[in-house]
Formats: sequence, C-alpha cells, structure tokens
Amino acid sequence: MALQVYQFPCRSDNYGFLAHDPTLNVTASIDTPEEGPINTALEEKGWRLTHILNTHHHGDHTGANIALKERWGCTIVGAANDADRIPGIDVRMADGDKYQFGSLIADVFEVPGHTTGHIAYYFSSEDIAFVGDTLFALGCGRLFEGTPEMMWNSLQKLMALPDETIVYCAHEYTQSNAQFALSVEPGNAALVARSQEIDALRAEGKPTVPTTIGLERATNPFLRPMSENLQETVGLSGADLVSVFTETRLRKDNF
Ligand code: ZN
Ligand code: FE
Repeated sequence: MALQVYQFPCRSDNYGFLAHDPTLNVTASIDTPEEGPINTALEEKGWRLTHILNTHHHGDHTGANIALKERWGCTIVGAANDADRIPGIDVRMADGDKYQFGSLIADVFEVPGHTTGHIAYYFSSEDIAFVGDTLFALGCGRLFEGTPEMMWNSLQKLMALPDETIVYCAHEYTQSNAQFALSVEPGNAALVARSQEIDALRAEGKPTVPTTIGLERATNPFLRPMSENLQETVGLSGADLVSVFTETRLRKDNF
C-alpha cells in the first residue's frame, strides 16, 4: 500500500506533514515545526510517530525534535554535513543516499542554498518529494547561507524529477510569491491563470500546497531563467542562466 501524507498548518505559515506507511505501520513527521499540532495530527490519524525526517536545521523545522523524540522514541534522520545543527540526529544522510522508511525508499538529495546542509526526500515509487525550504510554490528559499549558483544547481536537481511529482514545500508563501512572479514574467499565460486560482483558494482559506514539478516548471520564475520574457524583464536577454537566476533572486529579496 502506498504512502499516506497528512498535511496540517503549524506556526504562522508553516505546514506540518505526517507520512505514513500502512504496510509496516511507520509514521514520519517531515520536520518538526511545532510540537502541539504534530501530536494532535498523530492522535487524529491514530498513528504512532516512529521517525522524523529533517530537511534543514532552522528552528521552524527542527524546533520540536527533542520533545517529540522524548515522547515517542522516534528515529531522527537528517543531513550528514549539518549533523551538528540537527537536534537529536540519529541517522546521517548524504547526496545520493537511500533511506529505507518502512516498506518504502526515499532518495536523498543535497539541495544547498537556503542553508548549506539542506536535503530533500524523494519517494520515487510514490511520485512524492519533500523539499523543505528549497523549492516553494512559485518561489524558492532565501539564500541565507549558500550562493545563487549553489541554489540554481539544487533547483535543477528537483526540476529533473518527473512532471507529475507531488511537491510538499514547508510554507504557505504562494500568494505573495505569485505577485513577484507576475512582476518578472507578465507574459506567462499559465502563470496568470495560476495566480487567479491561488487567489481563489486563499480567499476560501485553502492551502496551495502541495504543488507539482510540472506546474512549477511552467510557472515558477526561479525554475525559468531560460524564459525570454523573464530575461527581458530583468534586463538580461540572452544572458547565462545562473546570471538570470541570480538577478531574479535579488529582485525577490527587494520586492
Ligand atoms: Zn528554513
Ligand atoms: Fe522554514
């Protein structure tokens, strides 16, 4: 049986995710934004927490690691090259590693940029990826620690996944991301249509997460430095993709 994902809001704009493998009855919290809502979600589903899969060290992703480990005795998985900053880490993963989660396998990608030790988990049999703060719906993570080139390389790894891949990103930033995206690629009809759908969803208080790789490739400016319209808008027609990505990220920081 397939991986079941349960999504719920945490803090002001984070999402919590529980990933449950019914075959072997294991349940992971993808990051630990907030103890209370995670325990409530586990109760609602009747699931026992066996794992925490951390994407990166920020407090809104690891803040409840220790409390949850004390309560549930769960195994904490995180980035080997950021182990010092992942509270309670038990299992250290590097790029290309495979993590056996119950009856399922997650491919681990190192996707640095937002932080230097950021990883993503890709369940290829399920077409599901948990990407933390690397890729957002219509956005990408701020570059707190990495370079634009590093982030562009990371995003290219995620872009290479099949279009149908369901992408669980860690924040509901989509509506403001859409405003920026429209400012740099106003000629993208798919983006215009999507932004209207996003406004309608948010007006009803509904989430815009998860998204898909295909939808992001078509509409997310940070995956589209090859777009002539975007290049023109940021004044870099014909420039190399890293330069266009760098300028786009800079403009978002100042938007
Ligand atoms: Zn973060
Ligand atoms: Fe975050």
